Amino acid sequence: MIELEEALEIVLSQVKVLPPERVNLLSSLGRTLAEDVYADLDIPGFDRAAMDGYAVISKDTDSASRKKPVVLEVIADVPAGYSTKKVVKSGKAVRIMTGAPLPRGADAVVMVEDTEKQEGKVKIFRRVNPEENVSFAGEDVKKGELILPQGSLIRPAEVAMLATLGKKNALVRTKPKVAIVSTGDELVEVGKTLEKGEIYDSNSFALFSQVLLSGGEPYRLGIARDKKENLLARIKEGLSYQLLILSGGVSVGDYDLVADVLREAGVKMMFWKVAVKPGKPTFFGMRKDTLVFGLPGYPVSSMVNFENLVRPAIFSMLGQRDWQRIRVKAILKETVLSGGKRKKFIRVKLVKEGDKYLAVPAPSQHSGVLKSMVWADGFLILPGEVERIEKGKEVSVELLR
Ligand code: AMP
Ligand code: MG
Repeated sequence: MIELEEALEIVLSQVKVLPPERVNLLSSLGRTLAEDVYADLDIPGFDRAAMDGYAVISKDTDSASRKKPVVLEVIADVPAGYSTKKVVKSGKAVRIMTGAPLPRGADAVVMVEDTEKQEGKVKIFRRVNPEENVSFAGEDVKKGELILPQGSLIRPAEVAMLATLGKKNALVRTKPKVAIVSTGDELVEVGKTLEKGEIYDSNSFALFSQVLLSGGEPYRLGIARDKKENLLARIKEGLSYQLLILSGGVSVGDYDLVADVLREAGVKMMFWKVAVKPGKPTFFGMRKDTLVFGLPGYPVSSMVNFENLVRPAIFSMLGQRDWQRIRVKAILKETVLSGGKRKKFIRVKLVKEGDKYLAVPAPSQHSGVLKSMVWADGFLILPGEVERIEKGKEVSVELLR
């Protein structure tokens, strides 16, 4: 049995970053950048008005006040998207809209609220400082600047930034293709009728969803029976993917064939048991470049170990390093007991109380109780040596994203 940290290190040491592909900007959301993106233009590309108003020479407004406004002659009117060749000289102003290029000669914009329009003229009620209400070329982005480093997750803001830079597409990592196989004679495909002793296969749906959220491309290969030939056939099929995840059949019972059949299929075992609760009987191996995970059958164990081992693997294949869960501080609502030497992942809900969070453990922490994952906003992690944490203590909770 190895510690989780060691298990993760072994997994990550086997990961190869996937090749890139070019996709349309509108299909880039949720993908990972595979190139450094530099700005090849200034943004904005020109000095522009940051307010609707009048472009002026700021010195002209020095004496302006409500009582004694300065009157300037208006020589042009520039909406956004247009420009004027006219030059602002002392005593003159150009009416200007937000986003329009600042005319030559002007060094500030008086906002329209501080003015009053007259026939061919404008009254200015307030003085402006040089550069006031002007956004200068390159204020947002400077030409040549590294804007988005490779490995960045593309969120709506990154999509917008790429558009601002004039890029119609993005170079992103290809998604890892992930095969998912459930194992067990008791499993029934959703939609069919249950006989006595049978349950619906839920793990493959959990895993499918977790793969999607991690940025992978999931494929359900269906249910394999606890029979060697049947299992071997599914495993062989799954080995043509970049990642193969099996659930169930990985303990040491008479019908737990997964580890043996994987080895028979040529999968080199890297570890089989991890010191975590839930999720101890977890297998990891490699066949050529395919990463193979045998996760425990209990729905919570399967999900938790996906989060701890598979998700980081998918992130690394995408060239992302930022897979750590975010931590928040919370006050523990009920005392929790470890009940063993393994690192424990307690499923908790966060409830806001005043300006603090309460961490409320799910009523049952059994690895067969899927409801505890529905309950959970995150994990309270108990290190192996900690036997209990008293209620009222401040703890840190790792958020499931
Ligand atoms: P196993 O690891 O095969 O011994 O399974 C442990 C427990 O998890 C048993 O109660 C199984 O019925 C259950 N289980 C295994 N696979 C699945 C699955 N795909 N969906 C839901 N429950 C499962
Ligand atoms: Mg089983």
